[in-house]
Amino acid sequence: MDSKELLEDLTSRNLERIYWASYFIVSDCNNMEEIQPLLQDLPEIRKKSRGLKFEDKTAPDSMYYRRAKYILNFYNRGEACPCALYLYPKYLGYDHKMEAKKGFINIIGKISYKDLVQCNRCGQKYSVFEKAYHSTTWHWEKVIEPARDIRLFEK
Ligand SMILES: [Zn+2]
Repeated sequence: MDSKELLEDLTSRNLERIYWASYFIVSDCNNMEEIQPLLQDLPEIRKKSRGLKFEDKTAPDSMYYRRAKYILNFYNRGEACPCALYLYPKYLGYDHKMEAKKGFINIIGKISYKDLVQCNRCGQKYSVFEKAYHSTTWHWEKVIEPARDIRLFEK
């Protein structure tokens, strides 16, 4: 799906098309090349989706739609590297091995049972662990590194 198709689907007011476009944006949330061109049309997307209602608010289609809107607004604010979207609460579908295959991150090591990964754009490190229960989920945490230049007890 390219950004033109995404825009057509997102402004179609057809719930099924909107679901698939949303699903694509959510699963490929670090694909700046696909998502960024949509930002110029964000006012139109907002206008055309006004009052749009999925029947069941807890159903996946409605959740993907809300997540896709969150992601578009995140890009629009332009405050942070999209790798921060891997931390998006309540969505545990980002398989770090898949994201590495897409070239967005690198798997650079291990911290006990977690994999250590690094964003290829901004260098932020994350630890990720995979949990296989009813379905497989991936849990991302930001790795905060200590500042190197602080000297304690300096006289
Ligand atoms: Zn990043």
